[in-house]
Amino acid sequence: MTNKTTVDENAPKTESPKTETREFQAEVAKLLDLVVHSLYSNREIFLRELISNASDACDKLRYAALTDSKLLEDASGDFAIHLSLDKPGKTLTISDNGIGMNHDELIANLGTIAKSGTAEFLKAVGDSKKDVNLIGQFGVGFYSAFMVADKVDVVSRKAGDAKGWLWSSDGKGGFTISEQADTQRGTRITLHMKDDATEFLEPHRLRNIVKTYSDHIALPVVLDPIADEKDAEKSSDAETLNSASALWMRAKSDVTAEQYKEFYHHVAHAFDEPWHTLHYRAEGAIEYTALLFIPTQKPMDLFHPERKSHVKLYVNRVFISDQLDGLMPRYLRFVRGVVDSSDLPLNVSREMLQNNPMLKKIQTGIAKRLLGDLKKRAEKPEDYAVFWEAFGPVFKEGLYEEFERRDELLELARFKSTSVDGLMSLKDYVGRMKEGQEAIYYITGDNLSVLKNSPQVEGFLAKGVEVLLLTDPIDEFWVPTVGTYEGKSFKSVAEAGTDFTKIKGDDKAEDKKDEAPAEDTKALIEKLKATLGDAVADVRVSDRLTGSPVCLVADAGGMSLHLARMLKQHGENPGAALRKVLEINPKHTLIKRLNSIDGAALNDAALLLLDQARIVEGEAVPDPAAFAKRLSAFLEKGLA
Ligand code: ADP
Repeated sequence: MTNKTTVDENAPKTESPKTETREFQAEVAKLLDLVVHSLYSNREIFLRELISNASDACDKLRYAALTDSKLLEDASGDFAIHLSLDKPGKTLTISDNGIGMNHDELIANLGTIAKSGTAEFLKAVGDSKKDVNLIGQFGVGFYSAFMVADKVDVVSRKAGDAKGWLWSSDGKGGFTISEQADTQRGTRITLHMKDDATEFLEPHRLRNIVKTYSDHIALPVVLDPIADEKDAEKSSDAETLNSASALWMRAKSDVTAEQYKEFYHHVAHAFDEPWHTLHYRAEGAIEYTALLFIPTQKPMDLFHPERKSHVKLYVNRVFISDQLDGLMPRYLRFVRGVVDSSDLPLNVSREMLQNNPMLKKIQTGIAKRLLGDLKKRAEKPEDYAVFWEAFGPVFKEGLYEEFERRDELLELARFKSTSVDGLMSLKDYVGRMKEGQEAIYYITGDNLSVLKNSPQVEGFLAKGVEVLLLTDPIDEFWVPTVGTYEGKSFKSVAEAGTDFTKIKGDDKAEDKKDEAPAEDTKALIEKLKATLGDAVADVRVSDRLTGSPVCLVADAGGMSLHLARMLKQHGENPGAALRKVLEINPKHTLIKRLNSIDGAALNDAALLLLDQARIVEGEAVPDPAAFAKRLSAFLEKGLA
């Protein structure tokens, strides 16, 4: 933090308490500069952001009051958000009677950004057509107030505290903070509107914005009677602008697609279209209501190591937590939304709730419904591909850790392969298996086109045997765990030991007439072994190769080369588990020619071939200088 505290020397010490002046954290200052100077379109969303914060603050207090009812003070616990207009004063005030903020929280929450998302926000906004909509997603919604206001005053008193505080800023570098007497519990944000933002002082405009963006907010958003007597729109009654009932408790038929979407934007802090909306009420052994969304785009923290779910749990409309372990399976952590149950106890800690057997039942129920819906949507492959491209890698974690639903998950999983351009299922694969083919063949790696052209798949392609191309890191882990699909085992093509003779494929690979005489090849193998020594585990004749002279494969049962590389990248030593076998293609002219050379020339050729196989595999050449020297020498001879 770069906060600098100075005491306002001029402040009369008796009447007004001291005012601290502080600078914004550098990131906040940058963000504000962008908000103030570059974001002009769709400015109305500031209201959505402030109402959303106010609603969260009320949720937080309601939850805290479950264990400490004194926090509600004398109020009955009726929460509401009020909008007050002062047209002559050109201010709009948004107030809530929620949890409020104390001195330190005001500084931390409205002067710094704890989350690392800001830099990414700045980048994203810089790249896209200044899409201000992104602002809420990055946890910086409050600052959108400065799109419409040239000064913002926040008066807040934390529930249970005696002292209230005034935070004030013009959004240009810093803010002041001072004690404020007679402050109501909660937060009151007064926006001093810019001259070009007076449209937001019009009641009809506010009505419209609230209806559009905040109708689903479960608390009433009330427009207070307008102070200015001369105003034509003056009304003496407070007016509730939203429906103020929890959207998920409404009947499906009473909610429009647009309202679902707005609600999704609110709960998920997201701004894409929901790819899927699931709204249902479970009745019977356990009762709960779920309103869940599958986003179209990947949320930012999808691959965060904590693998947290963000579905919000409510118990009888009281918000409990959006970080509850056990509500959602981890492989469905991209799902957003709300679950509300009256069968869970209200008065227990989050930790105890986490271990409540009811929660597990809800999780099972949700997974069942979601997978059922996915199955239906998978009937339209193009549509399903959108889901799979975004969330397939996370979904596949379920293959690894969700034993009970493995078969269902395998049916829903999609793959790329050597036979199709798009995505396919395992069912498709099995349907296309050749006579005599017993295994489902796959290859793992980082890059699709490298895999497709890999020498290891040549023989399979020549036989017309389909190979799954697996490029997600998780693939290395689920494949060995799953073991089989419909009784067919998964087998890596990058592993030695495929018996091609049993497979009745398109026979291009079986033609042996071009091969070098068997004795020659045997002798060559011995010479290569002697030259390459420990650099390889073995040298063998390959029947997988058609166009390439050599390739490296893992020894049967050994660790795949791709996995070994991944482990190395993470600083681990795969050690002896990694045994590489050099396979040679006896039909290849180059290999045939090797039979006629000896000594230093054969030695160099052998080392070059091994390095070439490494390169094709995506491995680093261990001694690049020696490799380059040998290559140059060969080129020189060839060009002579
Ligand atoms: P976000 O809401 O995504 O965390 P914001 O910039 O909108 O980001 O707000 C920052 C933080 O300030 C909030 O997380 C919350 O702790 C606090 N805050 C904002 N508005 C209020 C409010 N009306 N009452 C209490 N706390 C608030």
